[in-house]
Amino acid sequence: MSTAIIVVGANGRMGRTISHLAATEPAYSLAGMVDSKERVGELGGASCPVSADLGELLTKVPGAVIIDFTAPAVSLASARAAAAAGNALVIGTTGFSEAEKAELEALARRAPIFWASNMSIGVNVLRKILPELARALGEPYDIEIVEIHHNRKKDSPSGTALTLGEGLAEARGWKLNDVRCSARDGIIGARPKAQIGIQAVRGGDVVGVHTVYFMGPGERIEVSHHAHSRETFAQGALRAAAWLANKKPGKLYGMADMF
Ligand code: NAD
Repeated sequence: MSTAIIVVGANGRMGRTISHLAATEPAYSLAGMVDSKERVGELGGASCPVSADLGELLTKVPGAVIIDFTAPAVSLASARAAAAAGNALVIGTTGFSEAEKAELEALARRAPIFWASNMSIGVNVLRKILPELARALGEPYDIEIVEIHHNRKKDSPSGTALTLGEGLAEARGWKLNDVRCSARDGIIGARPKAQIGIQAVRGGDVVGVHTVYFMGPGERIEVSHHAHSRETFAQGALRAAAWLANKKPGKLYGMADMF
């Protein structure tokens, strides 16, 4: 049986890719599309119900799994609608504040909710092996992360860079918020040992590049992930939707739960 999908942010870069795959891959069916009041008109001609109001759409397609790649406030509103109706929800949006994350976690006790800052298989394998590398190399190796994204990206640094940074900080016994440095300008002096630099580069149509540097005495290791297209994230989101469809609420699920 195919998994019915409602895409929130269906007009966006990720939303268009996910809607196309959901409509064309046999394992999924596109059951609804949502975008803002201003942009929902651009979804005209769709073969499924279209709305600017997710709550209203959920009454028409009750069992569908929602996939939301939009902005933090919009995804939180989707989570409230999912919690009220009991639908499963996959969120790919990045840039949540700590308070917004806490609200998502609370809503995940009422409906199955999944969030991942990066849905690609490659990045999630990296999340596993980078902390091992940090531990094996030890303290003499300084860790820096550089991410590159297209010139329309709203949040900085990327959610993926922060997620990778959190795992690396933990491997060193640190909290990322205590050691993160995302700006260096002027007479900054020597680099403190307890530091992880995360720098953002923006330009053109780059889908996403993350490079982690381990720099030690006389050598350096660079581990890079390059996303070639948005399809890799869209496939991950759809896979998460199929996985989440029969899960119970209780915790905010993530990629580690799915693999
Ligand atoms: P985008 O700006 O192209 O798309 C956002 C869409 O949301 C737009 O169509 C916009 O009209 C719509 N929107 C705005 N307000 C809305 C509302 N009130 N209701 C419904 N829709 C509304 O952005 P994008 O490049 O597709 O990225 C979206 C998010 O996904 C960003 O946070 C980005 O960082 C994240 N992202 C995550 C992954 C991942 O793997 N987790 C991958 C790529 C992007």
